[in-house]
Amino acid sequence: MEHEAVELLSKYLRVDTSNPPGNEDRAVGFFADILDAEGVIYKIYEPRPGRASLRAVLPGTGEAGPLILLNHTDVVPARAEEWSFDPFGGVVEGGYVKGRGALDMKGQGIMELLALLDIKRRGIRPVRDIVFLAVADEEAGSRWGVEYLLEHHPEDFQADLVLNEGGFGLKNLLPEQTVMMVSTAEKGVCWLRLTREGPPGHGSLPHGRNTLEKLVQALSRLLSEDQPVRITPVVERYFKGLGRGWDFLGPFLEEGNPETLARILEENGLMAMPQVSALARNTISLTTLQAGIRTNVIPSRAEAHLDVRLLPGQRIEDVVEDVRRRLGDEQVEVVCETGTESTESPWDGEYFSRIQNVLEAGFPGSVVVPSLMFAASDSRFFRQRGIPSYGVCPVLLDLEDVEMVHGIDEKIAVDELLKGTEVFTAIVEEFCAH
Ligand SMILES: [Zn+2]
Repeated sequence: MEHEAVELLSKYLRVDTSNPPGNEDRAVGFFADILDAEGVIYKIYEPRPGRASLRAVLPGTGEAGPLILLNHTDVVPARAEEWSFDPFGGVVEGGYVKGRGALDMKGQGIMELLALLDIKRRGIRPVRDIVFLAVADEEAGSRWGVEYLLEHHPEDFQADLVLNEGGFGLKNLLPEQTVMMVSTAEKGVCWLRLTREGPPGHGSLPHGRNTLEKLVQALSRLLSEDQPVRITPVVERYFKGLGRGWDFLGPFLEEGNPETLARILEENGLMAMPQVSALARNTISLTTLQAGIRTNVIPSRAEAHLDVRLLPGQRIEDVVEDVRRRLGDEQVEVVCETGTESTESPWDGEYFSRIQNVLEAGFPGSVVVPSLMFAASDSRFFRQRGIPSYGVCPVLLDLEDVEMVHGIDEKIAVDELLKGTEVFTAIVEEFCAH
């Protein structure tokens, strides 16, 4: 079993599923060979050539609804010249399995597969179907992956709950305890296109209505102001957990009110950290700005794009209205090109507490907390259909390791992969019983 996880991941990392273009049918082929050999039934969906996803099932008694083990098979591209090893070599050395996707999320895909196989090999008959769901296209918006599957085959994806990426453990966040994060929520996404038009002119004769200058001034009004701090319930619960290791949160733990938490985070300088600020605020990033053709021509059109991320409970229309107001220029046209509000699953119910119990048993002394993801994952599609979805990956990382996700030299420690497989299997086994 232990050897198997390393061997399978090394092989899986050699399957190049960089998206674009994806070629996730290669990953489906990789899994299909293993499932054939193990006698597990599966179904393949291929909405476009090469963009395949796979659903395998270990049938249960039907006493409870299915558990879906969700993983995406595509990875973001890797520029080999920036890496110190071959991103698609599947190298195992120095106690690591190395390659693009080791953390995001081929490592977890292998843990999920081995959890299902382990339960099957031990002859356990679960009370619910255990569904291994390996999907395409997560890294490029899921159009040919989960979004397609749930739209065209909803009957195949009814479930009581989903386990997905988005959670992991941190070794060095708290001074003594390790922290296991289970992501129960993710921020909403709102991509805005701003356009402004105005009279052209000669650069030598400024006419005071330069539309590019007007747009830059409006953006500056919008961006120079911090977004207001809003402590949402999941973030409150998150810091309550961290309070077990951070003494300075004491007054918040005693009083339990969100204003105290906001004040403490501000006073301790934590709110100045992007990772903390993004937990407590809607965020806005100016990501593109286009205008002009020549140095001596005043442009007649300027365009900008904003990547806005929304806290739980925030409505897109309100946020767009707020952006318009802060821009303070009615001639700037604001259009929301893509919008999904934040999605959440309960952290005060049975599913979360069962996951928590297994994690605490697997990592004694650790603090298990619900967490809010900044970025979007496939969990949102299930949550939008009322299916609770949790981001769980029982692997311990250092804070610095997180940079390898979508970065360079991505790798996972062999010990963590083995431990993660063991604990992930225990979580799945927990849900095999009532
Ligand atoms: Zn991912």
